Amino acid sequence: MAKIGWIDSHCHIFSDEYRDCFDEVIKRAEENQVVQMLGICCTIEECEWALSMEKKDEIDIAVGFHPSDIKVACNWERLEELTRDPRIVAVGEIGLDYYWDKDNKEQQKEAFIRQIELANKVNKPIIVHSRDAMQDTIEILMQHSCNRKGIIHCYSGSVESAKILLNLGYTISFAGPVTFKKSVTPKEVATMIPLDRILTETDCPYMTPEPFRGKRNEPSYVPYTAKKVCELKNLEEEAFQKACLANYQALFHSEN
Ligand SMILES: [Zn+2]
Repeated sequence: MAKIGWIDSHCHIFSDEYRDCFDEVIKRAEENQVVQMLGICCTIEECEWALSMEKKDEIDIAVGFHPSDIKVACNWERLEELTRDPRIVAVGEIGLDYYWDKDNKEQQKEAFIRQIELANKVNKPIIVHSRDAMQDTIEILMQHSCNRKGIIHCYSGSVESAKILLNLGYTISFAGPVTFKKSVTPKEVATMIPLDRILTETDCPYMTPEPFRGKRNEPSYVPYTAKKVCELKNLEEEAFQKACLANYQALFHSEN
């Protein structure tokens, strides 16, 4: 079990963005009491690079084909091989993105379902990306259940949709937008999510929380998002940290 501290359950630390400064980024995260990170790999190459590094307990790895990337040829065989690696804790991020791509909805749905089935085959949870596609996301998760469940990351839907996803067994993760002055719904959702189904993330390099909005995001900024959620839920920081760590361990480090 990791030390008590903050969790970044979704960061793209293995992307090219951090290739030249990886060690410093991790060091700054540790200095800011970030005790657990889940690095999301959207390509085979990113994942191979992640696996080539020395194993660190505070850094886990996930791999999956992002809905915005499935227009190009995907190496499904290699993806399956990689997801079988014991260091890969989840399949993701996978899902639907109708904000960037409206013209290949069926292809996105197929890739999403295929990767849920892959997660079940290798007995791992999923990390779900859903943008402007909540209705279809929910429908797919209802019809194609992931046995180990998973995270709906950077949640941006309504309170009603969150309730449905909770009923389906998923955990809701919050990123930078919950700190933005004008964002109302993420704050309402964060307030109502039960403590045993909540997580925090940066989704770096994007979604930078206040007060760094506009700068490149990184895991060391996750405390700003987490503290905002704490404040909304009227919780002591340590109680919230312990809850998030327990949720994270239950999802990724328990063989159920
Ligand atoms: Zn992401």
